[in-house]
Amino acid sequence: MVDAIRRDRASTDDLAGAVRAVLPGLEQFVRFEGLDPARIRSRWLAALDGPLPADGIGRDAVLDELSALIVGNGLRTGHPGFTGWVTTMPTDVAVAADLAQAVAVPQRWWATAGNFADDLAMRWLIALLGFPASHVGTFTAGGSTANLIGLGAARQHAGERLGLNPGRDGNLGFVEPRVYCSTETHHVVGRALGVLGLGRGSLREIALDGDGTIDVDALQRTLDDDARAGRSQVAIVACAGDVNTGRIDPIGELARIAGERGIWLHVDGAYGGWGLLDARVRERFGDVARHDSFAIDPHKWLAAPVGTGAVIVRDAGVLGRAFECETGAYDRERHAPVGTSDTGSPFDELGLGTPDFGVDFSAPARGLAVWAILREIGANGVRERIVRHNDCARRVADRVRGEPMLELLAEPVLSICCFRVRPKDWTNESRLDALNDAVLRRMRARGRSVTSSTRVGGRFAIRPCFINPRGTLSDADALVDEALAVAADLVAGH
Ligand SMILES: *Cc1c(COP(=O)(O)O)cnc(C)c1O
Repeated sequence: MVDAIRRDRASTDDLAGAVRAVLPGLEQFVRFEGLDPARIRSRWLAALDGPLPADGIGRDAVLDELSALIVGNGLRTGHPGFTGWVTTMPTDVAVAADLAQAVAVPQRWWATAGNFADDLAMRWLIALLGFPASHVGTFTAGGSTANLIGLGAARQHAGERLGLNPGRDGNLGFVEPRVYCSTETHHVVGRALGVLGLGRGSLREIALDGDGTIDVDALQRTLDDDARAGRSQVAIVACAGDVNTGRIDPIGELARIAGERGIWLHVDGAYGGWGLLDARVRERFGDVARHDSFAIDPHKWLAAPVGTGAVIVRDAGVLGRAFECETGAYDRERHAPVGTSDTGSPFDELGLGTPDFGVDFSAPARGLAVWAILREIGANGVRERIVRHNDCARRVADRVRGEPMLELLAEPVLSICCFRVRPKDWTNESRLDALNDAVLRRMRARGRSVTSSTRVGGRFAIRPCFINPRGTLSDADALVDEALAVAADLVAGH
């Protein structure tokens, strides 16, 4: 017989104890001492890889494994010397907000304080970036989904101009749909077009001009050709900070072209959109009020937990029709507007937000971490961070220019600086590529400055990207010093 009072096997009565059990391991991890533990797979692989447990090992043993095996062998994207990615480790309040959300704000619907903070965070984000308050936004799982949603709205807009409703009826009625972007545009844009049924093949990738951004004349010619051929022109995608070099398309000009032709302008600012906060680059963005949709990742420069993207859209109506989701009958009868008065029960009403602005239904209140971050450091704190990191890239560039052994491969626009080691008299490009690859690997193995590579004009480039809140100018200097020290070693050994 089933014991009616037998408790669940899962512990539910000592949350503080569970959190306390992993805290020392987390504290140890964020000191980033010694060599990177994630190098040593043998430490965790055998211990973790096993069959489905029949009975489980119980709470305390799980918490031990979580602390020792998972946290203890974690990935150090928060190390101040890590400049390899466009994502980073969240800051303290962002981690705390994530935990609070999991416990107390379990749905992004509902009109609780946490939901209000989530909604407020989007309004703050819109204000921070300088968009008119009439723009709307939605938090997403990341830049990939943010681009998908922006482009879904673009598809709806293009369809409605042809008397279609693609959100309801699909893409029949479009004639060879086309989306325009530069060759530097992130691959998730093409995939979004695949998901939307327009197909990756609908992307027209325009070559770069001498500045390394979209060739506007070539774009105009392609637009003219396609217009003459009667093709459906869905969107122009502007790149606001490509992940290789951080360059920003001339968005003001693209907005003008899009506006004249009645084409939707989507801006992919997942990484570089935060550059709006640096007066030195803001003008590259043009007038943001004219951007139809804008993808931006709080989980990049804002250091929110990964899983926090955002998209801001000018026309709420188009967005809502693009992602319309008919509410289930059980929801509809309780769907009441949110007021300011107290209620009999918070479950009497559905709350803030709408499922029509994205592709999730149940979802975390992702904005809660954004709220915490903005509440902690304010607009000025974010602005100082962006400017400081852009300064870091400029510092690297200045140092590189002053070192005969180093060569600058792209002038920094945002917080990325691409350079390489180039010993005097070395002219063979493939030998230079191999040397730089070796320099990068040796730097990573040493652990002080861990960064990534890309290719600029076909050349292997060392590519630091400064977005880590823990990183300062001294980390930019250390990176150059490391590159020089390692290069001197390797070249001497040649
Ligand atoms: C990071 C990034 C993406 C992808 O976003 P995710 O958050 O990784 O899904 C797309 N475009 C640009 C420019 C990016 O920097």
